[in-house]
Amino acid sequence: MAEVKNFASILEKQLEGFEFDNFLVGSKVDSELLAREESLWLSAGLAYPESIKAELNREVGKILNTTLGKPTEFSNPEIVAMIDTRFDVGSVIPSPIFIYGRYLKYSRGLPQTKWFCRKCRGRGCEHCNNTGKMYETSVEELIAAPAVLVTEAEDFALHGMGREDIDVLMLGSGRPFVLELTKPKKRRIDFDSLAKSINTKNRGKIEVNGLRKSSRKEMIAIKSSKSKKTYRCRILAKKPIPNEKLKMVVNTFVERVITQRTPIRVSHRRPDKYRKRTVVNCEIVSQNGQEFILDITGESGLYIKELIHGDSARTQPNLSAELGIDCDVIELDVIKIHDDIDNEYRSE
Ligand SMILES: [Zn+2]
Repeated sequence: MAEVKNFASILEKQLEGFEFDNFLVGSKVDSELLAREESLWLSAGLAYPESIKAELNREVGKILNTTLGKPTEFSNPEIVAMIDTRFDVGSVIPSPIFIYGRYLKYSRGLPQTKWFCRKCRGRGCEHCNNTGKMYETSVEELIAAPAVLVTEAEDFALHGMGREDIDVLMLGSGRPFVLELTKPKKRRIDFDSLAKSINTKNRGKIEVNGLRKSSRKEMIAIKSSKSKKTYRCRILAKKPIPNEKLKMVVNTFVERVITQRTPIRVSHRRPDKYRKRTVVNCEIVSQNGQEFILDITGESGLYIKELIHGDSARTQPNLSAELGIDCDVIELDVIKIHDDIDNEYRSE
């Protein structure tokens, strides 16, 4: 215990350069010392004595409360300062930062997250030009780069409320996401200026809005959300379709339950099964000869491309079969995600 002051000053040095409003002290103590302590408890017949570790942490913490002018936080500290009493060394582990926002994607050919090269799995090879990636960049990397610069974080991950295919645009009010920044040095974030720097750097590719502080809890809620989505779907039919017939068939899809076997295009990475999803709404936006545009609102998980072309009859019913004319999706955009996450979590 005589060394408490020494430990506190070691940790104070380690904490230099990190931004935090509260902290927690932890410690690694010589296992021999702990073993001796335990046998002492046993011989003294103590059931729940305060351990050396707990007392050490508390006493070091008390000194740091004074020197740093910051409180101890037990349940959700912004940073944990660890003292290793065996070697008189300290280390610090900043808690991750979670940032909520919504993103819009204006570019076809941009995946949501880093997509590792299939051949080398990220190590870098000839196939991927030694980048380790299938695509040069992603929504995740474009959003994270300015945030990493501001926070000096070691790593990042974007958690989206679902994901759109690489060739699908994300429009309307955007898709909710939580950006997780690991081991940040700085945690005072000016969200407006962060949004501005993301948006000016990526004009024409992506845009973010509504950035604010988030939490692990909200991140989990976003990942597991089952929100309805509305898609704008440009479709090309093999033959012209009379407008009256198109109207009639499209109307039959409103509130219709669709059975979809795992699509061929994803069957290599998803289990082969049947599932049912409801088309909540389906309406014609415009029609021009063989080409027409539909707005389709579907339950979370409805495969839209397959609903149109039928996926070799693996999706039943499907638009092509009901029309008796093969149809294909030539462009697909998400135009609305029907979520309420921002209202639920903003004030937390
Ligand atoms: Zn590779």
